[in-house]
Amino acid sequence: MTALNSGTPDYHQAVQHVARHLLGHPGPIVVLAHENPDGDALGSVLGLSRALRALGKTVITPMDVPRYLTFLLRPGEISDRLQEWPADAMLAVLDVDNNDFPRVAGGDVSTFQGPVVNVDHHGTNTRQATAGVVDPTKPAATMMIADVVDALDVPWTEDIATPLMLGMMTDTGNFTFDSVTPDAFMTAAKLRGHGARLGWLMDNLRQHPHAYYLLLREVLGTLEFLHGGQVVLARVDENMLERADATWEDVESYISILRSAEGSRLAVMVKDYGDRVKFSLRSRGGVSAQNIAVALGGGGHVPAAGATVTEPYAVARSLLDQAIAHELERAAITVPA
Ligand code: 5GP
Ligand code: MN
Repeated sequence: MTALNSGTPDYHQAVQHVARHLLGHPGPIVVLAHENPDGDALGSVLGLSRALRALGKTVITPMDVPRYLTFLLRPGEISDRLQEWPADAMLAVLDVDNNDFPRVAGGDVSTFQGPVVNVDHHGTNTRQATAGVVDPTKPAATMMIADVVDALDVPWTEDIATPLMLGMMTDTGNFTFDSVTPDAFMTAAKLRGHGARLGWLMDNLRQHPHAYYLLLREVLGTLEFLHGGQVVLARVDENMLERADATWEDVESYISILRSAEGSRLAVMVKDYGDRVKFSLRSRGGVSAQNIAVALGGGGHVPAAGATVTEPYAVARSLLDQAIAHELERAAITVPA
């Protein structure tokens, strides 16, 4: 597979190729996405699995759906992580680098022998599937799933369009990020035309449990402004969760609060698990979150990336500080502040 750009004949061919593999596979299709699934991961899985089931395919969708997204699910639609692969299965790996086995959730992909299709928009994807659509210019993986659904020639329904719209909304900050392309609006218009429930999605996504606010109060107590306010950082650990009766899931959207700090070019949310530390990174203004994440052994996109460092916080933090200093220096050279 070669690199694909949105709208090119190569892109169109890749979409057709993936659709033909899915249509031509007689056995069960296992649809997977990345660990710690977000709206784009769940939206991709629901959109594709609903389309394939409408075509009479046997589809298995193992996923650990975060509570704030469960409002989308129909009874029995999602199953538990697979302990073994069903006979004659094909994998559809969505919104995650197919080469990054540990990040693919739902089963141990490193032990899978059969055909794999991969639909993803991560710049770090090394394109190793049997068939794939990998386009880093697409702001959401669900955009590419929408093209695959078209190519499957399955009738559009509201329950296919709605989760695909969800992925577009969550990966584009409700169509406010610079990653939004003109064709993103075209796809959104198409999904809306097929009945995607925009207001219903937004109303359900905006609600937070009380624990979310109680934990936020503590997390904001750890707030640091570094490098003259260019970097904003906050930290959360198990003890804070316990005091607020909160879960790790409540933490997910805090990064967007940090990201809003005036004058900041990098926001870091630190999840301190004790033996390891997960950094969620968001950047703007010429700074690359991806460069910092890659320096720490992680990956992602230029404006949004992450890494897990298997060290206690003090050690991981000093690695982070070094990576940030290095990236700010690089960004200062290439982009005048
Ligand atoms: P988040 O900070 O929300 O977990 O992740 C932001 C982005 O970075 C997402 O696109 C996610 O897939 C990617 N990402 C987060 N952690 C890792 C990691 O450890 N490795 C890679 N390759 N990507 C990551
Ligand atoms: Mn995505």
